[in-house]
Amino acid sequence: MQQKILVTGGAGYIGSHTCIALHEAGYGIVVYDNLTNSSREAINRVAQLIDAPIEFIEGDVRNAEQLREVFAAHQFFGVIHFAGLKAVGESVAKPLMYYNNNVSGTITLLEVMADYKVKNLVFSSSATVYGDPETLPIDESSPRSCTNPYGQSKLMVEHILEDLAVSDDDWNLVTLRYFNPVGAHISGQIGEDPNDTPNNLMPYISQVAVGKLEKLSIFGNDYPTVDGTGVRDYIHVVDLAAGHVAALQYLEQQADLATNDLATNDSVTNSSAINTSVGFLPINLGSGKGSSVLELVTAFSEVTAQSVPYQFAPRRAGDIASCYASADKAKALLNWQAQLSITDMCVDTWRWQSMNPNGYCPT
Ligand code: NAD
Ligand code: UDP
Repeated sequence: MQQKILVTGGAGYIGSHTCIALHEAGYGIVVYDNLTNSSREAINRVAQLIDAPIEFIEGDVRNAEQLREVFAAHQFFGVIHFAGLKAVGESVAKPLMYYNNNVSGTITLLEVMADYKVKNLVFSSSATVYGDPETLPIDESSPRSCTNPYGQSKLMVEHILEDLAVSDDDWNLVTLRYFNPVGAHISGQIGEDPNDTPNNLMPYISQVAVGKLEKLSIFGNDYPTVDGTGVRDYIHVVDLAAGHVAALQYLEQQADLATNDLATNDSVTNSSAINTSVGFLPINLGSGKGSSVLELVTAFSEVTAQSVPYQFAPRRAGDIASCYASADKAKALLNWQAQLSITDMCVDTWRWQSMNPNGYCPT
């Protein structure tokens, strides 16, 4: 039977790539997005790429009434919840907007899911919940702490999901902690389309290469790293999308186990029943490898043959020296690991950027 998935925020950067991966894996999808940080054009292009129409609903996850209509009209196996605001600097300036959107929005979604007994969720969390890590690589049991409202909003939702799992073991709440998503679909048709000047490194590099920005500022060259510049774990967005499919497949396996278990055992006296409840399950999605800013800039220039002028600048407030994942849990539980290299990330970013110098906006 084809399982249907509600994809909140499915018009966005990671969501649009995940819609393709879901379709390819045989899932039915309904996209729900208020388009605050995306455009219909992304949905149109996904539909072209999969050669099938996409059911798209323009709506806000804080709108319980509209969500109820969507749940009443469809029988979902689960929800992938990408919808959220993600700019750290903006969250410092507008904390209420971030808590309202990211935390209240998630609570509203969970309430509606509970009403309709849809209790499988894949939530977009972030490596930012680890703050400045004490040890590297970072595994899922590392301490969590955040210093900005965006990170706090992710951490708050994680705590809500943990409490929810304790309250009722029907909930299956896979929480994917992404490291640094970059890259674009191999077609060059969809990719990351920042509204303003990018804050993140890879889109900044590609906009310098295409001539939209003059020069990259490298924030800090005195970190205790291989060359003094910050180290991060870059993960291709197509690998990340595959991680969501793997998470759903894991939830389906657990649901099948639960069904078989019920069918083959006398319910009350069954002491050997397998515990199939997933509960709150945090999983890192990263490559497990760290790359410095200078390494990424050099790789980008080499593989694209574009020059990327840069200058060193002071450290950016709130930045940490190094951050990279232990990806062992994703491998063990989801049988997922990153396949694509830094070269792929640079080639695919550049294809998207050079084919769409203004993103989804034609002018
Ligand atoms: P994005 O901004 O491209 O996508 C988010 C989508 O959610 C957008 O299409 C936006 O219009 C939509 N949205 C926002 N608020 C909404 C609301 N209240 N109701 C309905 N739709 C709403 O961002 P992305 O990079 O694709 O990130 C997806 C998720 O992953 C976000 O939750 C983000 O915080 C998280 N995340 C992203 C990164 C990253 O570097 N891109 C890293 C870690 C975690
Ligand atoms: N960075 C940089 N110049 C930029 C943007 C980012 O030197 O214009 C550095 C940043 O200091 C960090 C790395 O690139 O060491 C990744 O930054 P990004 O904002 O992409 O991710 P995050 O810091 O959230 O992990």
